[in-house]
Amino acid sequence: MFFADSGSVSVEVALKLAVQYQAAAGHPGRGHFLALRGGYHGDTFAAMSVCDPVDGMHAQFPHLVAQQRFLPRPPQARLVDGMLVSDPAEVAAWVQLLEETVAAHAGELAAIVLEPVLQGAGGMYIYAPECLAAARRVATEHGLLLIVDEIATGFGRTGELFASHWASVVPDIMCVGKALTGGYLTLAAMLCSSEVAATIKASPLRALLHGPTFMANPLACAVAVASLKLLESTPWRPQVSALQAGLGVALAPAATLPGVLDVRVLGGVGVIELDTPVDVPALTRAAVHHGVWVRPFRNLVYTMPPYISTAEDLAAIGAGLCAAVEQVHC
Ligand SMILES: *Cc1c(COP(=O)(O)O)cnc(C)c1O
Repeated sequence: MFFADSGSVSVEVALKLAVQYQAAAGHPGRGHFLALRGGYHGDTFAAMSVCDPVDGMHAQFPHLVAQQRFLPRPPQARLVDGMLVSDPAEVAAWVQLLEETVAAHAGELAAIVLEPVLQGAGGMYIYAPECLAAARRVATEHGLLLIVDEIATGFGRTGELFASHWASVVPDIMCVGKALTGGYLTLAAMLCSSEVAATIKASPLRALLHGPTFMANPLACAVAVASLKLLESTPWRPQVSALQAGLGVALAPAATLPGVLDVRVLGGVGVIELDTPVDVPALTRAAVHHGVWVRPFRNLVYTMPPYISTAEDLAAIGAGLCAAVEQVHC
């Protein structure tokens, strides 16, 4: 486990570690990554390089952002009776593209890097867990590592402790952040398997080539320990189920509004997707007027309420968001 001062830095370290691993395993040519369109992994340069190339504004920094390979977003999934369901034909087509891409470029790829099941800042998009399982299988078949970015999804937010559990996937490298400290102080971590660590330890370099001054800052670690103890000692699973049910009901009225493209919920994440970019100042003002503070982006109005939110809180959040969307966009 390697502590970092932000999620972006933990992703930098994960990418660096994967390249060092491949070199140590006798594959120095494997220095690139396969990532997903619509992904978001942070704002530092290596992390940017695996973000969606258009949303990630790669064109603004052509000399600094490394070229990586991208697959389209996996097919969308919807919650039906607690299961994530998607079109099997679309899943099969995506998996075939994944297999072909990796087979063609394995010699230059160190790892597949993705956000498991829920892409966050790249679009609050929920995709088929089967595609995550396929990424695990294909990575193993071709000697690539699987890096899962659980910075937004970790610690119960999607209804599983980690979103990777939706596909029973065990990654080689995982990044956590955000909820690690309950949002109170900046701390993130990169975790890797013993196999990855042992391979690097046995290499001539012997260690990961990274060392931030304030890594494992004691105050931040104390906050993380307190936050994790709190998570362990509270019934987070039924709490997140209640968020999912409550947001599902509270946001449902938005689905029939004219400017609304989609309404979706997974765990403690509720999303209203509009068919045009959100008028952020107007919508924020309208939402505050209805008693709710939100921070929309692009065409997305979303909420990730605390696990302790009550049924009344969820009803108020849903009603406020629906009213604000109706007032500003209909
Ligand atoms: C927020 C986020 C990051 C970046 O974390 P910072 O702490 O903001 O640097 C990386 N990946 C995902 C999935 C995120 O949601």
